[in-house]
Amino acid sequence: IKKIVIKIGSNTLSNEDGTINKEFLNKLTFQVSKLREMDKQVIIVSSGAIISGVCSIGKWSRKEDIHYKQALSSIGQVELMNAYLNAFSKYDLRIGQVLLTREDFLDDYRTLNIRNTLFTLVDEGIIPIVNENDTICVEEIKIGDNDTLSALTTNLFSADLLVLLSDIDGVYDKSPKEYNDAVMIETVTNIDELLNNITIGKENYFGTGGIATKIEAAKKVNKYGIPMILANGKKENILIDLLEGKAKSTLFLP
Ligand code: ADP
Repeated sequence: IKKIVIKIGSNTLSNEDGTINKEFLNKLTFQVSKLREMDKQVIIVSSGAIISGVCSIGKWSRKEDIHYKQALSSIGQVELMNAYLNAFSKYDLRIGQVLLTREDFLDDYRTLNIRNTLFTLVDEGIIPIVNENDTICVEEIKIGDNDTLSALTTNLFSADLLVLLSDIDGVYDKSPKEYNDAVMIETVTNIDELLNNITIGKENYFGTGGIATKIEAAKKVNKYGIPMILANGKKENILIDLLEGKAKSTLFLP
């Protein structure tokens, strides 16, 4: 495994009050620096712009107003990148911001251009940080969630692995937050069968996709022969442990 796309969920990136979890970011950037030393190429897909925006201006009063939401993402994206910039600079790593929309994946010419840009960034030793361009995308024309965006990015980058870091260890037969006796599924080779055997519970407050879009993301990358891992981003050293086969997670194999 050489090329890895890592997706960070909102609930992993932020504290309960909506501020960016700096401790998590430091752990993440430390691990990414280790991966770079191991000669891995890393792309990060990060949520968290809207939460950061809410936090930055201290309110979310017009929840239903699309333009207000778009404005929040514009404010928050800067905060988000600033947090990444600071966290990565401790390890002498530089980042590049890549904001994408659904159309970027529908037009071959645009797709090819983005692919070349990503390759160029990575070749230069830069860590691309990808997010959906929420400021210019209204709901109807959106990719909509970063699980899907990370799957599309994984296929675009021809990565060897997609890792979704969430706030749970993996996929369970029912929501682990609602049921204590939920059983985790470690390996999935047949996604349709999985969907027949589990129930999907409530979504987190800040989460957009929930578990359903994560399973769909697995479907998308598996179709291209790429495996996906869903794991708990809050765990110490999770990325390195995953690569060494030492961490609890759900592995989706093509
Ligand atoms: P993220 O912010 O990382 O994208 P989400 O909040 O969107 O995460 O989705 C993960 C959440 O999905 C978990 O925290 C859990 O509460 C919920 N969930 C619902 N059903 C399941 C299930 N069967 N297995 C695992 N998690 C589930």
